[in-house]
Amino acid sequence: MKKLLVLGCTLLSTFAGAMATPRGAAAQERHAYTHADTLRGTIGPARAWWDASFYDLHVRVNPKDSSISGVNRITYRVLSTAPEMQLDLQQPMVLDSVVPEGRQRLAMRRDGNAYFLTVPGDQGRGGTGTVAAYFHGKPRAAQRAPWDGGYVWARDSLGNRWVATANQGLGASVWWPTKDTQADEPDSQRVAITVPDSIMDVSNGRLRSVTSNGDGTTTWEWFVTEPINNYDVAVNAARYAHLGGVYDGEQGPLTMDFYPLAYHADTARVQFEQARPMLACFEHWFGPYPWYRDGYKLVETPHLGMEHQSAVAYGNHYLNGYLGRDLSGTGIGLKWDFIIVHESAHEWFGNSLTSKDLADMWVHESFANYAESLYSECQQGKEAGASYVIGTRKNVQNDQPIVAPFGVNAEGSGDMYYKGGNMLHTIRQLVNDDEKWRSILRGLQSTYRHQVVTGQQVRDYISQQSGMDLSKVFQQYLNTTKIPTLEYRVNGTQLSYRWTDVVPGFAMPVRVSVGGDSRLLRPTEVWQETTIPAGAALTVDRNFYVTVHHTGS
Ligand SMILES: [Zn+2]
Repeated sequence: MKKLLVLGCTLLSTFAGAMATPRGAAAQERHAYTHADTLRGTIGPARAWWDASFYDLHVRVNPKDSSISGVNRITYRVLSTAPEMQLDLQQPMVLDSVVPEGRQRLAMRRDGNAYFLTVPGDQGRGGTGTVAAYFHGKPRAAQRAPWDGGYVWARDSLGNRWVATANQGLGASVWWPTKDTQADEPDSQRVAITVPDSIMDVSNGRLRSVTSNGDGTTTWEWFVTEPINNYDVAVNAARYAHLGGVYDGEQGPLTMDFYPLAYHADTARVQFEQARPMLACFEHWFGPYPWYRDGYKLVETPHLGMEHQSAVAYGNHYLNGYLGRDLSGTGIGLKWDFIIVHESAHEWFGNSLTSKDLADMWVHESFANYAESLYSECQQGKEAGASYVIGTRKNVQNDQPIVAPFGVNAEGSGDMYYKGGNMLHTIRQLVNDDEKWRSILRGLQSTYRHQVVTGQQVRDYISQQSGMDLSKVFQQYLNTTKIPTLEYRVNGTQLSYRWTDVVPGFAMPVRVSVGGDSRLLRPTEVWQETTIPAGAALTVDRNFYVTVHHTGS
């Protein structure tokens, strides 16, 4: 999710038309990147020398005054030596102290939202270290979660406290100290959250213990046994009901745990049944659910939704579609719950396979959008899947490229959703072999399982496995705002055609129908000719995301 228009995965679109102008303007402003953006978005020397292996996060959440306090004990591998260690924590949160095991607190200097700690010089390369980072403050309150980020301090309709976090893009450092980049995930993480006795916390992974502290608070200790994105770590605290089940999947029994607000239990029991066909469809297309050890969960939140790993945030009001609407305009999207399908797809693309730099967020969102189409196909057939993704083209803005500048924690255009999904659908046409296409998607998942990747790796993998050089296709759709235009003219029985509005060297084949007969044209930027029956009409296969320009007779 993320992005105004998009929901954090999600999306957007309801506002797509109305928000186009302000969003474009904001995008322009974002081009002025700052020193702070570089500190945040680059793996600088104070980050490169250490590799996070375990985050042991303990946070006390105080809804009464909207404050939190806690400690993150960070265990890391020493890759090289460096004089400083960078930790990120955004103001107005305060990093009180950072203390290595058995030593005095470290000297530190603050540079905006980055803290630089003077580290002991005797850390051996290849060894490990642990520091405890103590922090407190009133974290930024999200105004429009999940599109902006921070804490949501809400109440349910019975007046009970309802607290949630969402911080994709903005970053986990809005509330806890960490190396705030997608490039480094810890191998595992504890998330121990202390909340008032009246509510319970549901975080990522599995519940290990519940401890009553005798002071009106209870600590809920959750544990994630696999690598996790910083931005996926979440607090969800409310008066929840707990529904459970088991899904018999590709790797055996998978626990499914649902936490709706207590008074929504009956509604949730019905709506969340959709998780079963969702898992079946995505295991078919993408391979095994990535987190059998940590389980699958849906947790009701006061915001629309987010792909929080093994604890997917759900706020779609138990409606099908996107808050009851269909983003494709076809009606196909009203047959399933958008948040269950889209956010869960991120368990594969986004959580198991994570982009190193936010600039490559298309690796998360283009595949999640495409997954919506695949789900429609699983449920309603291949034509329905195609109609769905084609229907979402109306939401494409072509305002700026999908891939953003690297190294400054920048996101590209919201076109990473619909345009990216249509790019993948188009590539499927080029592969023209559904089993091969499925093996490519599953291969991406098995090859890069639980890893961070660059967008380039994903592009290269698809090219290699398909046996086609797709580099120009990716460049066209991801790095430019232009849609390829097939220009053609007919003179008697001679058809002339070429590509325009394309990157140099673009030579994507395209399927057309000529007088009812299917043909694969191989246009380039240079006019080519072929013979067609006199009077035969030409139409381009709608599955190819291109525009067509008939230049006269
Ligand atoms: Zn998403």
